[in-house]
Amino acid sequence: MDFVEHVAKEVMAGYGIPVPAGVVVDDADAMDLPFDGPVAVKAQVPAGGRGKAGGVVLTDDAEGAVRQLLGSTLGDHSVDRVLVEEQVDIATELYLSIVVDGSVGAPMLMFSPSGGVEVESGDGPSTLHLSVTDRPAVEELAEFLADAGCPEPVAPIAEVARLLYDAFTGADAEMLEVNPLVVTGDGRVLAVDGKLSIDDSAADRQADLAARASHAPVTGLEAQAAEHGLRFIHLDGDVGVLANGAGLTMTTMDAVVHHGGRPANFLEIGGDAYTLAVPALEVVLANPEVRSLVVNFCGAFARCDVMTGGVVEAWKALQPDIPVFFSIHGTGMDEAREIVRTELGMEPYESMDDAVLAAVEAARP
Ligand code: GDP
Ligand code: MN
Repeated sequence: MDFVEHVAKEVMAGYGIPVPAGVVVDDADAMDLPFDGPVAVKAQVPAGGRGKAGGVVLTDDAEGAVRQLLGSTLGDHSVDRVLVEEQVDIATELYLSIVVDGSVGAPMLMFSPSGGVEVESGDGPSTLHLSVTDRPAVEELAEFLADAGCPEPVAPIAEVARLLYDAFTGADAEMLEVNPLVVTGDGRVLAVDGKLSIDDSAADRQADLAARASHAPVTGLEAQAAEHGLRFIHLDGDVGVLANGAGLTMTTMDAVVHHGGRPANFLEIGGDAYTLAVPALEVVLANPEVRSLVVNFCGAFARCDVMTGGVVEAWKALQPDIPVFFSIHGTGMDEAREIVRTELGMEPYESMDDAVLAAVEAARP
């Protein structure tokens, strides 16, 4: 689960890490700033690189910048919230983060004395593995930071690193990044940006936080599918895919690619094929790129004749003008194939490969 900057900053502030004063705004007309003077107005989207993409505006005109950013798009994300912060007088930009190092199974502290938007062009951060259970000693952190080129005075930065560890473990984080961590002209240390990911399996322990997670943008079709509880992902190909079970669906998609085609979607239905066939087909067919459809059912507990019956009824009701290719195996396959023959007047394919190949060829322009 990923979180936008202002949530990451609230978490960090909760553990005592200093952050700039700021307010979250989603409506320029209702904006009420508790401070005057220059501000940083920052799009709250779950993506980095906002500075370069125009998502961070340093200005004296808070309202103008808020109006400019709200409703705009940044990459794939539409901006529906901005963070308006008191502008910080930055003397030095540092990079500080903690991530889970999966190869070691421990948190890893990363630090670079050259933080900010160009961080990737530097030498790469220095790293220090930390204990999962024991809070690091501030002396150990200070030594690591000094060796890594941290500017003097190191102590307040070591203290932030220690608080970052508290926040990281307290939030069940996989990644907590501050870039830049800044030293201001008057010597204060502040987290000017924040990025947080927490372990999905901690959702129960972190229920309040989990409720504030960012979601990847969904397409219109994905939103339509979600309304019916369908597991649908919109892809950029032209061969529609409908199968039961996530594994068989991905296998079918792989077969489409193997035969030189491109899947138009992931759509997995199972025992609910009977009740959800109509909305499922509607979603697949609402994609204007779709030029053929392969239906791949493999019956086990969910019977093929029940799933096929649902899809065939939906097909007859919707009467799509694209060709469909069936591959049906497992429990109830004889009855299912008979349904396709009598109701649609076509012959299901003996092998999945042949059905997929036929669908790929039919989709060729
Ligand atoms: P990102 O590009 O998405 O990582 O967004 P950041 O929050 O890191 O902002 C990008 C850059 O904008 C930072 O590296 C700073 O150089 C600059 N910036 C952000 N806030 C302030 C601020 O309050 N004052 C100043 N002077 N620069 C800021
Ligand atoms: Mn940043």
